[in-house]
Amino acid sequence: MGTLETLYCLRCNRELEAGHKSVAVYMFAQTVGIRPRQKSAAQRICFCPQCSVSLALGPPPEGALNIAAWKMIRDLVSTDPALNEAAWESLRGVVGYLPTGEDDRGLRIASGGGYFEF
Ligand SMILES: [Zn+2]
Repeated sequence: MGTLETLYCLRCNRELEAGHKSVAVYMFAQTVGIRPRQKSAAQRICFCPQCSVSLALGPPPEGALNIAAWKMIRDLVSTDPALNEAAWESLRGVVGYLPTGEDDRGLRIASGGGYFEF
């Protein structure tokens, strides 16, 4: 804790700088009914606001763990519009960076994974 690690959105691989708006999913495993009780290190998985909203609005993913994470993110997205607003904020930011030339990297980032299809 407290270390400055670079985090990337699990879905679109966008770099999430410290202090940027994102959704973090923490996960750890713990033994139950077994002595001594063991607890794994916690893993942190991050999603940028757009991917969070897009995931929440999309169909449930495959796999029990994915569904558990999807339900949690869905919960966040549906409870308060703040996350949606953050997604739109950063979407406007991405649009502002769209290149006009041959390089379509910006476009690929904006449409990576097929989120926010218009
Ligand atoms: Zn993302």
